[in-house]
Amino acid sequence: MPLIARASIDQVQAAADMVEIVGQYTELRKAGANYSGRCPFHEERTPSFSVNPAEKLYYCFGCGAGGNLFGFVRAKENLDFAGAVESLADRYGIELEYEESSARGDAERHRRERLRALLEQATAYYERVLHDAAAAAPAREYLKQRGLGDDVGRQFRLGFSLAGWDKLREAARAKKFSDQDLLDAGLVVPGKSGRPYDRFRGRIMFPLADDRGRTLGFGARTMGDEKPKYLNSPETPLYHKSEAVFGLHAAKAAAGREDRVYVVEGYTDVLALVQAGVHNVVASMGTALTEQQLKRLARVTRNLYLCFDADAAGLGAMSRALTLGRKMGLSLHVVRVPDGLDPADYVLSGAGGEGFRALAADAQTLLQFHVRLALATHDLDKPDGRARAFAQLKGVLSEAATPIERDEELRHVADRLQLSAESVRYLLAGSGRSAEGGDAAGEGRSQPPQGGGAAAAVGGAHELEVRFLAGCLAQPDKGRAVLAGVDESYFATAETREALRSVKSRLEPYTAGNTLQTAENGTDVGAIDEAFAEVVVTAGRERFTATVVDELFLRLQEAHVSRLIARLKATAQTDESGKQGAELMRLQAVRRTVREAIRTIPVDEEPDEG
Ligand SMILES: [Zn+2]
Repeated sequence: MPLIARASIDQVQAAADMVEIVGQYTELRKAGANYSGRCPFHEERTPSFSVNPAEKLYYCFGCGAGGNLFGFVRAKENLDFAGAVESLADRYGIELEYEESSARGDAERHRRERLRALLEQATAYYERVLHDAAAAAPAREYLKQRGLGDDVGRQFRLGFSLAGWDKLREAARAKKFSDQDLLDAGLVVPGKSGRPYDRFRGRIMFPLADDRGRTLGFGARTMGDEKPKYLNSPETPLYHKSEAVFGLHAAKAAAGREDRVYVVEGYTDVLALVQAGVHNVVASMGTALTEQQLKRLARVTRNLYLCFDADAAGLGAMSRALTLGRKMGLSLHVVRVPDGLDPADYVLSGAGGEGFRALAADAQTLLQFHVRLALATHDLDKPDGRARAFAQLKGVLSEAATPIERDEELRHVADRLQLSAESVRYLLAGSGRSAEGGDAAGEGRSQPPQGGGAAAAVGGAHELEVRFLAGCLAQPDKGRAVLAGVDESYFATAETREALRSVKSRLEPYTAGNTLQTAENGTDVGAIDEAFAEVVVTAGRERFTATVVDELFLRLQEAHVSRLIARLKATAQTDESGKQGAELMRLQAVRRTVREAIRTIPVDEEPDEG
């Protein structure tokens, strides 16, 4: 991986507008030194998400997501650190410089470039064959029969592989590519005699491209009855099946504009829809959408409209994809094409792009889909069929995003079962979450865990420690003074101890203003600790006076001493020397003093602007 020069990273950090970046995902309002809004990482109705524009840090008090500029872009755009820096550099027009790279990195990069060049040559070769070769006439006829015109074929760079054993191999070798290159690119198969032969023979070729339209591999289909009907590139350094999405580079712009993407099953579905003027469409290469595919799509839009065959296998696979997508915070819909047609046939049979859009307007939500699936897969005329349907519906309905959506589906179920909505509600209220009546369904997930005992104690300590450190940042002179008497043992968890280190280094004069202080040169600057982001955001959110910092410091000491006392008591039973008893009394005396000091803290009437 190329190493971006530190100076370039700093340049990007300085140029980026954190409020603008975050503002793409959620509406932000100024609130004190911070901006706040609804969290882009979890569903919520009231804002608990803050951005500190000066430090370029974010933190959510609801779900605990937090970090810096690069961390935010990484999370939202699903990029690695270098990718996040490159994306921001692109946006703010900064030319990046790269570190002198290692010999191995160079070799690796060179290898990938060579494979890319070969795949480009192969794509161009297959294209030429499709358009010009006499032997490709049946392929041209096939596409024409399917109603696919020349323009759309050229747009997606369709091609044809000739039936011989080494047509591509010969063409590539004439361009000075070796057998090893061809093997590595997945274009040939090792032969028994040691002589490789073409992997794709007598097939229509569909290039599978990356986001920029560069070919990574191929999908290939027969026109006759040969098996397999579809043959794809094997895994290569460039092509990974689990990430492949056909047509994404062409769909990206329209999908962003319309804020939705249609996901269909077949290459020809994509071509037919694009030809009909529906440009925001991709093919999934099978119904079992993977997490990696969903992540690629999520970078373009969060609204996915799935349009798959409604056979049993298709439904099951789609159901899994929907559940996975929902976990990723995507909004998923199911478009049903009538009469068992695939989208290509539907569009080409006269419905056109408008007809397809009308279907999409009637798309089912995830909940509707699952409810209908539960109803369709059980025999509702039989008592045990109904019982099983109810058992399934119970779980499905408890997942409703809103009470309104849930009620609507309840009525639909009642209708189908010819029962009153009240009886259905009653039947479904037997157990589980739906027993509460569902008015709070969908809520509560974002709440922090309400554990008692030790968990709650750590929760309280965490808040106190964060507020103390925030106060130190807000009142730097005071902060430096009190921090001089504090070490890591005062902090209950590794996260806040890490935050303490960050705050301390921030308050040292020679590092003032260096927001990337905690990162080593060349390491992942995106991995800033969440607790530190929480501290910075808290510092901008509350009004800390010197007196408040004093009080927080005392409370921190009290909590610290209390922890020491508890630890000592836990071991005191086995102590025979009496030393621990003496230490215990000493600590208890310290605690009394601290508590007395807390009681006598003057009440802050006017916040001082120290
Ligand atoms: Zn959140």
